[in-house]
Amino acid sequence: MAGPEPAPPVIADLPVAEVAPAVATAGDDGVFDYRIPPALVGQVAPGVRVVVPLGGRTVEGFCVRVKTGSGIAPERLRDIAGVIDARPAFPASSLELAVWTARRYLCRPGEVLQASLPGRGLSRARTVGRLAVPAAEAEEALAKLGGRAPVQAAVLRDLLGGPANTGALRKRHGPRAVAALRELVKKGLAVTAAETVKARVRGQAAKPPSGGEPSSGGEPLSGSEPAPTAPGSAALRLTSAQEAALARILVGLGGGRPGETAGAGGRIFVLHGVTGSGKTEVYLRAAAEALAQGRQALILVPEVSLVPQTLDRVRAHLGKARVAVAHSYLGGRERSEAWDSVLRGEADVVVGARSAVFAPLARLGLIVLDEEHEDSYKQEEKAPRYHAREVAAWRASREGAALILASATPSLETYHRALTREYDLLELPTRAGGQGLPPVQTVDMRAELAAGNRSTFSRALTKALGESLAQGRQAILFLNRRGHSTFILCRDCGWVARCPDCDVSLTYHSPETDLACHYCGRHEAAPSRCPGCGGHRVRYFGAGTQKIEEETRLAFPEARVVRLDADVVRRGEAARVLALFQAGQADVLVGTQMVAKGLDIPGVALVAAVAADSGLHLPDFRSAEKTFRLLTQAAGRTGRDERPGRVIIQTYSPEHPAVVAAAGQDYKAFALSELEARRPLGYPPWRHLVRVEFSDPEEGKAREASQAFARALDRQGFDSLPLVLGAPDRPRYGGPAAAPLARLRGRYRWHVLVFCPDLEAGLEGVKAAVRQATGHEARGGRRRAADGPVTAVDVDPTSVL
Ligand SMILES: [Zn+2]
Ligand SMILES: [Zn+2]
Repeated sequence: MAGPEPAPPVIADLPVAEVAPAVATAGDDGVFDYRIPPALVGQVAPGVRVVVPLGGRTVEGFCVRVKTGSGIAPERLRDIAGVIDARPAFPASSLELAVWTARRYLCRPGEVLQASLPGRGLSRARTVGRLAVPAAEAEEALAKLGGRAPVQAAVLRDLLGGPANTGALRKRHGPRAVAALRELVKKGLAVTAAETVKARVRGQAAKPPSGGEPSSGGEPLSGSEPAPTAPGSAALRLTSAQEAALARILVGLGGGRPGETAGAGGRIFVLHGVTGSGKTEVYLRAAAEALAQGRQALILVPEVSLVPQTLDRVRAHLGKARVAVAHSYLGGRERSEAWDSVLRGEADVVVGARSAVFAPLARLGLIVLDEEHEDSYKQEEKAPRYHAREVAAWRASREGAALILASATPSLETYHRALTREYDLLELPTRAGGQGLPPVQTVDMRAELAAGNRSTFSRALTKALGESLAQGRQAILFLNRRGHSTFILCRDCGWVARCPDCDVSLTYHSPETDLACHYCGRHEAAPSRCPGCGGHRVRYFGAGTQKIEEETRLAFPEARVVRLDADVVRRGEAARVLALFQAGQADVLVGTQMVAKGLDIPGVALVAAVAADSGLHLPDFRSAEKTFRLLTQAAGRTGRDERPGRVIIQTYSPEHPAVVAAAGQDYKAFALSELEARRPLGYPPWRHLVRVEFSDPEEGKAREASQAFARALDRQGFDSLPLVLGAPDRPRYGGPAAAPLARLRGRYRWHVLVFCPDLEAGLEGVKAAVRQATGHEARGGRRRAADGPVTAVDVDPTSVL
């Protein structure tokens, strides 16, 4: 007789943790259930870092939720192996932010949490191997292994001496030691377990600042410093435009309580002010108000190098505030202590670069993104490929804070949202000190050539520089190319020095590095004879910052010339160079985009863009915007005191709209014309753009993967027609095509550009198509199938090269 089926075991009270591993995982949403073993119950809580088994590895992860019971059968649940911190490393709001960021940028919550932690990789979960059999049995096995498996034998011999972790084994026996240990486990001779290690924060080398080039990620928080009481600039009179802007922001600050969702346009402010209009003054007064309400302020700057300058201003305004700063010169221990102090609520203001957007502030009242247009706010080169501006916007609305996006040249995404009233536009149309904007002179370099001047300096620039020096004033020469010569070429056979791993020419640097690839960092000696024909007529073309520095010295031997570019930053000399120039102990500063960004040096009489069109013709839809922005920002470095300054733009494209608008310092004209130019093509901000790249050492594999992806997009209902021919509401794609930089670091790159009218729906389609095309999940990181091409998904990329 058939009785009722036995009830399943009662597991409703089984303690389970949802864990986001800090590493890339395949085919899932990046959060897994683990059983909390009895010994760890009470220790595992949301925000706590844990060690968990994942596949065949042991990895670090973050507990995001604790619950009872799981949708997974209890016998299939694995145990949490250990707990790293006694206390949560993140508050609940950070966990929520990480989950949102991961969804928005197709990456894993664990990757976001890891990227936001100071001194990333502070602790390492290590796997420890030990013998699973008595020593005598192990010795017997060792004799059998003998010379057939020398690495296994070596590892087994080590284990006979006692437990050993994989790091030590790898050090002693090479990279194959870990595989050998796994073999020993399979044979039943050894077992492995996770070793719970304390966070290793001592003695870690501090990384140099990233300088003007996008950094690879963490600009961690450093020590929370009590600021000395300084006289604020409260006495300074605001202009009426500043007054009006501040009043609107204060209304936005007043109404909010944490958890309250922002109404349309009420909480996000675009503070659009010409260079020198006093945007900083406005946002610092707003920060003071937030602090007066018992709330906190988060101030983001695009570059670590701008932190000290910002910090000085914060201290001058908010003398009594406790300030935590991003400072990558400090060691990991100090960074980590600063993070903890912010977590404990001991900081009123956090100043930092990109990753500080994740700072664990619990009473956030105001977020400021200074120079919000800067691309360095987007992490592009590896997952999580987030944009600090979007993360800040979500955070502000979620946590009931006001957000100020400050810029003289807002990104078109931001400006478009201001025009459509999604954001609140606050304009500061004049300089705070009453100075006019400096006059701009455009010099047509074609005419210079025609007149027989083959120098990189036009006659107008030579004259202006001479005058500036004669008056004892300072000049900035700006050129967005570092190195000496951007390529070397044989006049006889046309040979060009190229990087063998990347599809680019090598830049000649002198004297420090000879030929260098700016993409992979490869260096080689410059040839004295042409490798192509053996001839002696190898010549150097395309001036970089080093060449300009050299030519300035030749033309003006009495001038004190200094240079600031990524090479100088790398040598750790950026601060010294800037201090020299700021103190008036140098006459001419030659530099890359770094000198155009936010430097405030009174006394600069002349700013010249030496080659204004160097970035104008890149095959990237943002090249006009970037050129306009750089020229406008550079021009803003002059005339910041009572004496007038002047600007010279040297260009071969004087009629290009970006150059014309920059010369007229007319942001609005540029923005409106560029928005209209992008509309029929569906480029951002009209559509969201998702760039999906497939790279492989074999070009055929990269191309085939991108074609398979395009076919999968077809099946998902994406349009491959141009926007004007297709349905306007449907997501569409362009490509597949070889990326403009078709090969980098030995890998061929093919990509597909996906245009989404609705990002959420578009991302679902992209995810499904990547899964179909490659057999694994799409993510903002790089993903390698067993031996297939690497797939990288970049949502809202700042560059499509
Ligand atoms: Zn040759
Ligand atoms: Zn290279």
